[in-house]
Amino acid sequence: MAPYILALDQGTTSSRAIIFDLDGRPLKQVSREITQIYPQPGWVEHDPEEIWNSQLEVACEAIGQAGLSARDILAIGITNQRETTVIWDRETGKPCYNAIVWQCRRTAPYCQDLLARGWSKEIQARTGLIIDAYFSATKIKWLLDNVPGLRDRARAGKILCGTIDSWLLWKLTGGKVHATDYSNASRTMLFNIHTLRWDEEILREMDIPGNILPAVLPSCGHFGVIEESLLGASIPITGIAGDQQAALFGQCCFTPGMVKNTYGTGCFILMNTGSRAITSRQGLLTTIAWGEEDKVFYALEGSVFIAGAVVQWLRDEMGLIASASESENYALKVEDTNGVYLVPAFVGLGTPYWDMKARGILCGLTRGANKYHVVRAALEAIAYQTRDVLETMVQEADLTLERVRVDGGATRNNFLMQFQSDILGIAIDRPWVNETTALGVAMMAGKGAGAYSGWQELTRMWKLEKTFRPQMPREKAEALYKGWQRAIERARNWIEP
Ligand code: ADP
Repeated sequence: MAPYILALDQGTTSSRAIIFDLDGRPLKQVSREITQIYPQPGWVEHDPEEIWNSQLEVACEAIGQAGLSARDILAIGITNQRETTVIWDRETGKPCYNAIVWQCRRTAPYCQDLLARGWSKEIQARTGLIIDAYFSATKIKWLLDNVPGLRDRARAGKILCGTIDSWLLWKLTGGKVHATDYSNASRTMLFNIHTLRWDEEILREMDIPGNILPAVLPSCGHFGVIEESLLGASIPITGIAGDQQAALFGQCCFTPGMVKNTYGTGCFILMNTGSRAITSRQGLLTTIAWGEEDKVFYALEGSVFIAGAVVQWLRDEMGLIASASESENYALKVEDTNGVYLVPAFVGLGTPYWDMKARGILCGLTRGANKYHVVRAALEAIAYQTRDVLETMVQEADLTLERVRVDGGATRNNFLMQFQSDILGIAIDRPWVNETTALGVAMMAGKGAGAYSGWQELTRMWKLEKTFRPQMPREKAEALYKGWQRAIERARNWIEP
């Protein structure tokens, strides 16, 4: 059996290829940045051809640089920036427009209109999502409404539409397969996560012909075989998942109640809820974690908008630190923040506050407050915001939380990880492989290709690097968190109508 798996990780800022062995050890990684296109304020696009070319290039280079040939690759997995939407011509394979990226706000007015017409309960009940421009549905509608002739071509079956995974799958299979997986489908706001079908009623409301959408398949399973000419062998594609779900899988959060938190620019927190699709009342999203044959596993998802980004802000805007890693040394120069709180509500507040009128504040300042206190307060804010989301999850899922598995750039900060453990009062587990998204989809692809006998074998692939355990007395942690909640109140509803 060929001993390696190739993970294609198509992210918002880069296309990456990572080769793993069957024990989940990364062998080679190649990455290429992709161009961000901003045609108007608030609009974000990518060039689908650039996405495809860069992804193919890094795949070739990774195999070459690892000293392998395509025959050494057992299977390919695809993980991707979620929600970003592409429409292309079924005959020529040419994109009909740039990809509209998840961050793009161009469809916010239509979302407002949907909200005003009372669709929010219905959409949440069917798709698990909260009406927002973030998801694919309104992007597809925008394309059909605004690209001349596109809706007619859609009705005539001349175009295809999908998220980035579908676009790459279609290109890799030489135009033979138009499919996606359950996790990506569940981020479109068109997929009924209970019936596991594209939702006819939402399609009708948005006037989207269902025939342009991909077939929805289990995340671990056979999607198709790549064209031999691309890499030099016909490798099967046996795993596909959206990036956050792939990370949940890569962290081996296979049982209900297990949680992972990715600390990047923002934080993405997902809790496995097993066969239960829990409808949130406090702004969490219900999403499909992954699907097998005819069975899917659900997750609750919450996000923090500004996490590692507050560290970049300290560095780039405030000039308080020279590098992100310096934040740790600074935080450790003082015993506490001296009562200072920083609420980084730079773009409003997400779960559970959902306050778009909130703005950042620095409070609790006294004459003795110095830059170390402020830097420490910024790091602590990442941990407090994570607790805000996790408390909501635990409440809504009615599960107890025993520990959290973490990944992402900011988990290198040991002070932050220790403080996170202290504030939550539970253990934080940091694994050896930080590339959990790519690892997760490699594991899925391996499972889909039959390389692993079962979940237990997969679970063994997760390797702990370090556990952080609570050291702070609980009363102190609770008092600090109370202070955070008071600071949050001060930050809320700041912008005048
Ligand atoms: P993304 O995938 O969102 O770009 P990454 O996982 O690459 O994010 O992490 C980058 C983020 O982590 C940046 O916002 C950076 O400020 C933050 N970061 C990196 N190293 C540290 C550190 N040692 N301490 C705190 N934050 C850090």
